[in-house]
Amino acid sequence: MFELNETHRLLRKTCRGFATKELKPVAAILDQKHLYPAEQIKKLGALGLMGVAVPETWGGAGLDVLSYAIAMEEVSSGCASCGVIMSVNNSLFCDPIMTYGSDALKRQFVIPFARGEKLGCFALSEPGNGSDAAAAKTTAVKDGDSYIINGTKAWITNGYEADAVIVFASTDAKAGNKGITAFVVPMPTAGLSLGKKEDKLGIRASSTCNLIFEDCRVSQENILREVGYGFKVAMATLDGGRIGIAAQALGIAKAAFEAAVAYAKERTAFGQPLVKLQAIQMKIADMALRIESARLLTWQAACLKDRGQSYTKAAAMAKLSASETATFVTHQAMQIFGGNGYVTEYPVERHYRDARITEIYEGTSEVQRLVIAQNALKELM
Ligand SMILES: Cc1cc2nc3c(=O)[nH]c(=O)nc-3n(C[C@H](O)[C@H](O)[C@H](O)COP(=O)(O)OP(=O)(O)OC[C@H]3O[C@@H](n4cnc5c(N)ncnc54)[C@H](O)[C@@H]3O)c2cc1C
Repeated sequence: MFELNETHRLLRKTCRGFATKELKPVAAILDQKHLYPAEQIKKLGALGLMGVAVPETWGGAGLDVLSYAIAMEEVSSGCASCGVIMSVNNSLFCDPIMTYGSDALKRQFVIPFARGEKLGCFALSEPGNGSDAAAAKTTAVKDGDSYIINGTKAWITNGYEADAVIVFASTDAKAGNKGITAFVVPMPTAGLSLGKKEDKLGIRASSTCNLIFEDCRVSQENILREVGYGFKVAMATLDGGRIGIAAQALGIAKAAFEAAVAYAKERTAFGQPLVKLQAIQMKIADMALRIESARLLTWQAACLKDRGQSYTKAAAMAKLSASETATFVTHQAMQIFGGNGYVTEYPVERHYRDARITEIYEGTSEVQRLVIAQNALKELM
């Protein structure tokens, strides 16, 4: 049995209450209107949820990674868009700066971001490459004490609202992935413009857009760790990010599951509530089993990270399991709702749409399987 301590239980209760009171009632309208949830994100900041695992001295809540996973699940069960906005700021922005940034970078780019006063984003993918991140075409050329960045980054979550971005660019094309460098760039800044906002299937209250760099100058002081270290920063950051996305997927699955069970208790067919039908109970069993299994994998990955142990394989397993669980559970939930599952009057069609992205970003399901296989094979050697 996985034992949560008092802090985890209290955090779970607080986040659950927040999701029920502040997120669930507005999630559908935010989704329909593609509205950025500014007010809700500000409140998440006030609760310390925009920098859950960032130490208090750097503006965060000073909690552990397990707390982050717990908070992400609850927030995402209320609003999956809020979940991804929170996850990018926590794991893809604050975390790498805390790990690889100088104190000056932490002062400028972690404190206000972890407090939720500012928002970060992470730019690795490009129009021509996503899974194959080492094939980055964006370049950064040294010019005095600065670098000049040119290229286009694609699919950037939080792009429209962000106050800074971590961008990965090639500083030495011949060195392959050892020639990639990570820079922190404030936004807005000269030479950096935004592409159109993508019209997405799900997580529609979070913005996604291209970032276009045209002779964008950034100080060499804004490099994370050192020149040529960017690919390692990206891969390690995504390992941590996958715990957040696994938790987001769990939140979506949980919301769909709870909605389906409540509906099955109310709705009658052939003279009895749906929930009494064995065919429906089989679905409920499979949904519950997959959610709990995925949650254990997610919490295990979080605990390994908390203990400073290797968690690459565990995070990939958590993300793969939880994202495929979200797809499965939301599909079954829609089935239980019948026709009512297919219309916007009920939340299940949104959960179904929101679930799908969790199998794509921060490494597709195929990429997670590659990571798991590579690590499992290494362990057996
Ligand atoms: C809504 C949204 C938000 C996003 N947010 C961000 C963000 O904030 N920052 C960021 O940098 N990126 C972001 N992304 C990009 C995302 O991470 C990529 O879309 C993802 O990594 C897949 O890359 P791709 O789209 O280029 O697909 P491709 O890499 O072209 O893959 C296409 C298909 O081929 C498969 N494939 C590729 N290589 C292999 C292989 N070796 N073996 C087996 N199968 C393979 C893939 O699994 C996939 O099924 C976001 C994407 C979306 C849609």
